This record gives sequence, C-alpha cells and structure tokens, in this order.
Amino acid sequence: MIPQSPPVKTKQRWQQALASAVSDADELLAQLGLSQALTAIDKDKIRQFPLRVPQSYINKMRYGDKHDPLLRQVFPLIDESVEVEGYLQDPVGDHLAVTSPGMLQKYQGRALLVTTGACAVHCRYCFRRHFPYADSNPLASQWQQTIEQIKHDQSINEVILSGGDPLSLSDDKLSRLVEDLSAIPHLKRLRIHSRLPVVLPERIDERLLAWLERCPLKVMMVIHANHANEIDNEAEQALSSLQKAGCQLLNQAVLLKGVNDTAAALVALSERLSEVDVMPYYLHLLDKVAGAQHFDVPELEAMELIAAIRTQLPGYLVPRLVREIQGEASKTVIG
Ligand SMILES: *Cc1c(COP(=O)(O)O)cnc(C)c1O
Ligand code: SF4
Repeated sequence: MIPQSPPVKTKQRWQQALASAVSDADELLAQLGLSQALTAIDKDKIRQFPLRVPQSYINKMRYGDKHDPLLRQVFPLIDESVEVEGYLQDPVGDHLAVTSPGMLQKYQGRALLVTTGACAVHCRYCFRRHFPYADSNPLASQWQQTIEQIKHDQSINEVILSGGDPLSLSDDKLSRLVEDLSAIPHLKRLRIHSRLPVVLPERIDERLLAWLERCPLKVMMVIHANHANEIDNEAEQALSSLQKAGCQLLNQAVLLKGVNDTAAALVALSERLSEVDVMPYYLHLLDKVAGAQHFDVPELEAMELIAAIRTQLPGYLVPRLVREIQGEASKTVIG
C-alpha cells in the first residue's frame, strides 16, 4: 500500500494540472476564439461554485463553436440566475440521508461516502452545487466513527466513494481510507464514482494504478462522460490502464439540453464507450437543482430519445434512463 512511502512534498503532475485549471470566463472564451460570443454570469453570484475547467478538457472543445457540448457543460451562462419554481437547493434529499459524518445511506446494501468537496471540473448542472461540502466533509477523527458504523452494519456490502470527486484526494488519503475499509469482512465491493479519468486523465498515473492493483477489494469504477468528444486518446489510455489494474468500468451520464439531447449524440456516446470497453450504466434525468434549469430535457422527450436509440444499438449499449426520486428505495427507471 502507498502509505509506506513518505508523503510526496512536490506536487504530482496531476496535482499541478488541477491547480492550474482555468477559472476565468474571459480566458476560456479567448482560448476558444469566442470572446464576446457568450456572456457569463456575474462572478459574485457563483462564488460557491465558480467556473473551473482543466486545460486538457478545454483542449477537447471545438475552436470557435459557442455551442460546443463540452463548453456548455462548464460555462456559467447568465441563465443560471433565472429563478424557476420547482428547482431546489437540494433536489435529491442528500441532507436527510446523512447517517454518519460523511456518509449517505439511501439504498439497501450500499453506503456512499462524501470523501471530499473538491472536483477537477465544475459541471454547471451538478446537483451537488449547493451541497455544504465543508459540513459533511468530516475530519480524520470523524471518519473513524463512520468506519466503525460500517463495521457494525453487516447489511452494507458495498461502499461508494463519491464527493465531489474522490480521485481529487491525494493517493495517501485515498489509500488510508480504503485500507480501513478493506479490513471489514462483509464488504464485497468498492465503487468509485469519478469524472477524473475523463476530465483530468493525468490523474490516472503510476502511483494510483499501483495502488488499485494492490487493492484487496473488487473495484468498480463509474466514470462520468456525457458526450463522445470527451473520450479522446488520452482518456482512452487512462481507461485502458484502469482496466489493466483490475477495475471494472461503467459510465453514467446526465441527459442535458444542448449537450447530448439527440439520438445521434447518445448513440455516438454509447459507441465510443463500447470502443473503450466501458459499459453504459445510467442516463440520469436532470436533478432539478436551482441554477441548472436551462439543461432540462422533459421526461417525455427523454423517453422518446431512449426509444429511438434502442432501435439503433444493441441492448447492452442502451443505458437505463433513471431519475432519483427522494424517498424511493432505488433510482427510478423511466425507460
Ligand atoms: C445513486 C446512489 C447510490 C447508488 O445507486 P445504484 O443504483 O446502486 O447505482 C447509492 N447511494 C446513494 C446515496 C445514491 O444517491
Ligand atoms: S464532477 Fe461530478 S460532482 Fe463534480 S461538479 Fe461535475 S457532476 Fe458535480
């Protein structure tokens, strides 16, 4: 396990890439030749969730295209300030599901750990954009309490590392947490939900891979790609090395207006996932979070899209269209 080596003092390459992510709307637009083509929301209005996008993700955007599906996911449009009824701060009831510091339990057998509030990219549609990460991101001592609770609850057989993005934690923090989890006999699986293989492929480096290879738990990784253009060669290599290290890979996407709300875009995404050996898992309907209303695709239209792609793809490449309904015992399958 990694903790045997002393903590790395100098930043790793991925940490440097993370630290130099672009956070200025004008700079992003200038890089894409789009100065003045789009108007960003006032910085003060999004102080809690500012623009944030790694350079390698910007490199995948089309120059001069203000409708680029990757740009749309990260650019804070003034549309975010429009208040629409029914769009809430916490649309999926995360606050109510906290059962121990940093732990959410909604479904039988699975416990989700909010390991960090940090993400490499700020997706404008994110349902956690108002989540008080600082409050639910426990101190090291409080993790012990949560680990104890998992130890005493034999019904939990899978721990999900979520966040924020769990891979934005340092290798040392990750391995310390997972070392404790690995010692719990009734845990069958570790699941990691991360967008980093796609938005910051530099993260999948030798150290992380060596650690994953040695991890005694079975590791499922649910990546998060919404569009085929997100999976370039660099991301493909990262995914391939994760598989070689023993991770089973699934993809979840969110259905987003102006990003992937056509049958062609969804088919292209599934085909691209198939090329890189990642199985489509979920296609989520947008959680109605305040500030993201301009991404909403109505349920009926979503069902029509799924019906359309089902006629064009093998069944195993059709993701399950789901919505999270607060209080339900599982995600609700719509189509
Ligand atoms: C979505 C979610 C899960 C995972 O659900 P699956 O259907 O197994 O992917 C687990 N816990 C929480 C709190 C969730 O929101
Ligand atoms: S990476 Fe995931 S958790 Fe982070 S902002 Fe994007 S959707 Fe939200």
